[in-house]
Amino acid sequence: MGARERELLLDAFDSNWIAPLGPHVDAFEQEFAGVVGRKHAVAVASGTAALHLSLRLLDVQPEQEVFTSTMTFVATANSIRYANAKPVFIDSEESTWNMDPMLLAEELDRCSQVGKLPAAVMVVDVNGQCANYAMISEICESFGVPIIEDAAESLGAKLSGKPAGSFGQLGCFSFNGNKIITTSGGGMLVTDDESWAKQARYLATQARDPAPHYEHTVMGYNYRMSNLLAAIGRGQLQVLEDRVNRRREIFQVYQRHLSNLPGICFMPEPDGFHSTRWLTAMTIDPNALGCDREQIRLALEAENIEARPVWKPMHLQPAYRDCRHVGGEVAERLFRDGLCLPSGSSMSEADQSRVINVISQLRRTASVEALTCPTRV
Ligand SMILES: *Cc1c(COP(=O)(O)O)cnc(C)c1O
Repeated sequence: MGARERELLLDAFDSNWIAPLGPHVDAFEQEFAGVVGRKHAVAVASGTAALHLSLRLLDVQPEQEVFTSTMTFVATANSIRYANAKPVFIDSEESTWNMDPMLLAEELDRCSQVGKLPAAVMVVDVNGQCANYAMISEICESFGVPIIEDAAESLGAKLSGKPAGSFGQLGCFSFNGNKIITTSGGGMLVTDDESWAKQARYLATQARDPAPHYEHTVMGYNYRMSNLLAAIGRGQLQVLEDRVNRRREIFQVYQRHLSNLPGICFMPEPDGFHSTRWLTAMTIDPNALGCDREQIRLALEAENIEARPVWKPMHLQPAYRDCRHVGGEVAERLFRDGLCLPSGSSMSEADQSRVINVISQLRRTASVEALTCPTRV
């Protein structure tokens, strides 16, 4: 947190707008919409709430299928279950780690032939990088299936100069504590459709109809963001660009020191993609490096450094084992070999050197022949 966040929070506090809603919520929504290039933004209690509301806005019905990326945080899949719909998990592609457009096209084609297209495709922009919307948007459009963009991890990323969150009919963001900017907890739903934005605000405030008493015709939720948190969000929005630059810098230092080790490959950033490197994620080929993902993780842990495997694919999660999935081998391999290194914006140079030294040392003690990595960035 910076000085501006504190000022804005105290302003909200002193104004006595403590109840949910208030002038900072309105201002945060307007400022945020500008940053991600959308006409409307609706501030909500979490990224998960934004995803759930998106499905309601698209009128997704119980038992309908919703396609999504298997490589994601569980919140994506949970939101589909909240709507009583059925998630179908699509594998990643190697080049972005996000939803494979070819598999998506094949599966949509199969479903359309039996007259059972999904109600929506919820595409995830994982680890700070957009999915391949140049292909995905065209494919979904040709089948008439709407896109919900789960950009919770990718605020600040770009694809062909367009911001993450601007690719779906609806886009969702998170301001949870671990995200690139935070309000401690919170989320944002973005769209260009004014009636959807209005409907989202209505559903997020218990769907209260205009009447002097409390009148309700449909079921709503308590999903709005509080004025206090919106004040923090406005301050955080001003440092977003610095955060993105810092995360990319951290990535570059890791890349400089580790990419010459055999068997280490970083998450690729193809031409036209501008990742925030929210997390520096890499894969380890144990045959080339001489030690595997888990040995590196444990060596770091022994030095009190936390590193984590990349997301465990949803089709492997016990909670979602009974769901359909399309492919899965790429995400499984990324999970088996993938590691997220400490990437916080406030990491010092010395912090990063400690991480790099542990990995380099482990490599030195592992006596194997050096093979070159075919997909190194
Ligand atoms: C963090 C995250 C969410 C959920 O956001 P919350 O604000 O924690 O509810 C959803 N999807 C992805 C991909 C995330 O990383």
